[in-house]
Amino acid sequence: MHEMALVEGVLGIALKAASENGMQKINAIRIRMGAYCGVVPAILREYFSIAADGTPAQGAELRLECLPAVMRCRACGWNGELAPEQYRCPLCESPDLQMESGREFFVESIEAE
Ligand SMILES: [Zn+2]
Repeated sequence: MHEMALVEGVLGIALKAASENGMQKINAIRIRMGAYCGVVPAILREYFSIAADGTPAQGAELRLECLPAVMRCRACGWNGELAPEQYRCPLCESPDLQMESGREFFVESIEAE
């Protein structure tokens, strides 16, 4: 239930931000997620619609922005962005990579009124 815990976190942040700013309704939540954070967007949206039901975030749109993973090659020292399906160093083709970033998952901003 990885997504459910994330949804509860996202919802908590959005509802807190809305109430602190005197907002009545949350229209959209912008989320940035790393390519390797393991979140399935369809499941995230489904859980969100269930969790947000009856709250000011009901019906809010989740805008997911995917961040590329940044890897470092332990063999040759290369680092840069790499898509999940190409898990190999583009310079020396070593699979011995270290992830510098790519597992992020956080609320970037919310739109509310
Ligand atoms: Zn390399």
